Amino acid sequence: MAKCIYCKKGGWFQQVSSIGFCDACEYEHKPRLADSIRILLSSQEIIDRSKKADTKLSRISDARRHCLILKDFETKGISTITPAPSETLKQIDRVEREVIQSEISDAIFVANQKAEDGNTDAAKLGGFNKGIDRLTKLMDYGEDVSETERAISRLRSGRDSLRAELLRRKAETWVAKGKHAKAVDVLIEAIMALRHDSTPDREQASILNALQDRIVELGGAPPK
Ligand SMILES: [Zn+2]
Repeated sequence: MAKCIYCKKGGWFQQVSSIGFCDACEYEHKPRLADSIRILLSSQEIIDRSKKADTKLSRISDARRHCLILKDFETKGISTITPAPSETLKQIDRVEREVIQSEISDAIFVANQKAEDGNTDAAKLGGFNKGIDRLTKLMDYGEDVSETERAISRLRSGRDSLRAELLRRKAETWVAKGKHAKAVDVLIEAIMALRHDSTPDREQASILNALQDRIVELGGAPPK
């Protein structure tokens, strides 16, 4: 007696195909199986070959979706790919974590590099902004985005303290020219920028205090 490997229906008059599907399943599920295998293989190839994290990650999502379809066949005892879909899913998760982690460390590295090497203040700060944009795109990926979130706030606070530091240096160039009033204006600008940026003020307390002390030293009045 022939029995379909997918729907398990069987009977004296049941015809099954060479891999064991009944007519209805052969029509409905075999193309789905073939499509999923094909898309999974082509996704894997692109994931390996591509150098762009967002391409890799969107293909990883495709691969996962089709691997889940194949896992449905696996739970019915039908073999599809090696390693089995349940194993392949674990690999897909691992690769996704690796891509996210390397994107995070690269974005932070590039931002810090720019902060040192940038020719202008805008270029120095721009490295952090680019890194923030890059990592914001990652927020759609991964089971746990807390690492990505932490990296984004690290970049924000790096940018915000650098902005204050650049203003502090600018103020000191006014001091060197004997223009204390101008220096005080710039230091006030730095304090206002810190108060309105996206980093909590308690994390910037030491910079804020130093700026206020400097204003007083220069004979100015710190902002209320
Ligand atoms: Zn069937």
